[in-house]
Amino acid sequence: MGRLSGKVAVLSAAAQGIGRASALAFANEGALVYATDINYEKLKEIEKPGSIIIHQLDVTNKQKIEEFAATIPKVDVLFNVAGFVHHGSLLDCDENDWDRTMTINVKSMYFMCHAFLPKMIEAGKGSIINMSSVCSSRIGAVLRCAYGTSKAAVVGLTKSIAADFSKQGIRCNCVQPGTIDTPSLNDRINKNVQMDPADARKMFQARTPAGRFGTAEEVASMVVYLASDESVFVTGGEYVIDGGWSLT
Ligand code: NAD
Repeated sequence: MGRLSGKVAVLSAAAQGIGRASALAFANEGALVYATDINYEKLKEIEKPGSIIIHQLDVTNKQKIEEFAATIPKVDVLFNVAGFVHHGSLLDCDENDWDRTMTINVKSMYFMCHAFLPKMIEAGKGSIINMSSVCSSRIGAVLRCAYGTSKAAVVGLTKSIAADFSKQGIRCNCVQPGTIDTPSLNDRINKNVQMDPADARKMFQARTPAGRFGTAEEVASMVVYLASDESVFVTGGEYVIDGGWSLT
């Protein structure tokens, strides 16, 4: 028996990075997984009949989210992963950057929770896990103004849901990774115009006491715990996984 046997899990941004590793880990622990992403081609790589069902979904599209939710009768776990990193200080961030960041990183979670929470309430149980970051209300990171603000808002959303729906059996926690080796991190490193990619990689590694990046699988292990009944008394928490970055 897997740690998630009998559970139905829905994830956003499951085509790559932490979302993908989590979808695979959920399935490996026996859950029936609905893996969604805007990138359907990439999602096909993890499709597994009877175990991982894939669905193209843009988390900024409220109507599509509601239509998708209407097709799933029961949901035990919702992992809201999708996020976008805007690079820059407040003065580098125009209104479009700001709105885009808030829409992908925060409003999307409001849409997803709004669509799936009623099903959990009806069942009298459910675990929602939201993707925050160590760069949020926990620490300020250089040139991450809109991003850090949005990930701090995720903490507020998480605690609010936990406070309002605990009596109905719903738990809500967020995870706060440090620097995790994923395709988008590598894109950011390779596109860094101010620094040679090898130097940028060293700089990111040096800011972490553990001296390395985390892996998507390491984050997925934490998320499996929060999704499972092992964490049944855990709600409203911020789960840091950062190799010590937030201690510095
Ligand atoms: P990633 O950035 O490599 O992949 C993101 C995925 O999101 C892609 O598959 C993409 O197609 C999908 N996506 C983008 N826009 C979407 C939309 N509108 N609707 C649905 N899907 C969409 O993945 P990652 O680096 O693992 O990041 C995942 C989450 O973890 C993000 O919220 C990110 O902010 C957060 N995070 C990442 C790190 C890190 O170092 N990688 C650290 C802390 C937090």
